[in-house]
Amino acid sequence: MARFEYLEARTLRQAISLLQRHGDEARIVAGSTDFLVRWRQGVWQPKYVVNIGRIASLRRISYSRRLGLRLGALVSVRDLETHPQIQSNYSALSAAAASFAGVQVRNLATVGGNVCNASPAGDTLPALLAFDAQCKIAGPEGDRWVALSEFFTGPGRTVLQTGEILTELRLPPPLPNTGSLYIKHSPRGAMDIATLGVASVISLEGSGRVCRNLRIGLGAVAPTPIRASSAESLLWGREVTPELITSAAQAAKADAKPIGDVRGSAEHRQDMVAVLTQRTLDRALDMARGNPMAFEMQRQFAIQAAF
Ligand SMILES: Cc1cc2nc3c(=O)[nH]c(=O)nc-3n(C[C@H](O)[C@H](O)[C@H](O)COP(=O)(O)OP(=O)(O)OC[C@H]3O[C@@H](n4cnc5c(N)ncnc54)[C@H](O)[C@@H]3O)c2cc1C
Repeated sequence: MARFEYLEARTLRQAISLLQRHGDEARIVAGSTDFLVRWRQGVWQPKYVVNIGRIASLRRISYSRRLGLRLGALVSVRDLETHPQIQSNYSALSAAAASFAGVQVRNLATVGGNVCNASPAGDTLPALLAFDAQCKIAGPEGDRWVALSEFFTGPGRTVLQTGEILTELRLPPPLPNTGSLYIKHSPRGAMDIATLGVASVISLEGSGRVCRNLRIGLGAVAPTPIRASSAESLLWGREVTPELITSAAQAAKADAKPIGDVRGSAEHRQDMVAVLTQRTLDRALDMARGNPMAFEMQRQFAIQAAF
């Protein structure tokens, strides 16, 4: 394992200046859960490691009905799982966090690290896409905003330039009558990388019958996490029927372009996209219609359904 010089930033400004000074020879770490694995494997061999994990301003979570959810990049996956406002307003995100590794890893892993690692199978990513997250990026030239849907450029690759840091994610407030769910499919459940993951967020008109808004995020079925756009457009503005849900699930299957690997063949993944899209939509609809049992069951369901 190659040695590196360890540098710790206490402020964002310090972190940016360290990254500017050391350029491509430096790598940011936050929770280090991805970093340590890659470093030990010899895949990442930076000369300098810049730890941003102690920058307090990046740990904040705030929620308001008007502004929605703001997540500092250092918010832990465990916080996503347990925060009451996230559980009630962004339930697909807390379900994704609950399906993520074990508690020890969830305590260290950050949401910013999950996003910047840009794995197609990252568990928080389909839900963040389905909640239309926006990314705030700080760099030597100041701040800029990028939609999460534009953030990933390939497996492990993002729009981040040398010296830039993801500082915050913003999720718009949920519309009234919204339900959402994430289901991870993996052979071993939580302690495994997703074979695939599906997050659906659906909002209904006041009548409870017509779809006002729908976003579906898919993980591990393309080089980056993606939205199932053709499935979404089938339901927008239309009365939601069981037949239409089945058609949307089939359309999501066509939106997915998976490869086969040790976790599953391309055909298996594609078939499972239809199954999990249908399940997430059915449960999310129950929640949107105010079925109280749906809320109680959603976290249990997200984990059990993996088997
Ligand atoms: C045992 C184990 C189990 C795991 N299980 C899961 C799982 O179930 N689901 C899942 O999705 N992942 C899983 N992971 C992967 C990992 O835990 C997550 O990707 C985690 O969210 C990474 O966050 P981190 O803070 O630890 O990132 P780090 O390891 O610190 O960094 C990851 C990458 O992101 C960059 N980075 C981090 N923060 C920023 C930032 N703010 N701005 C710019 N770049 C940044 C780093 O430079 C690095 O390239 C697992 C890992 C381990 C070791």
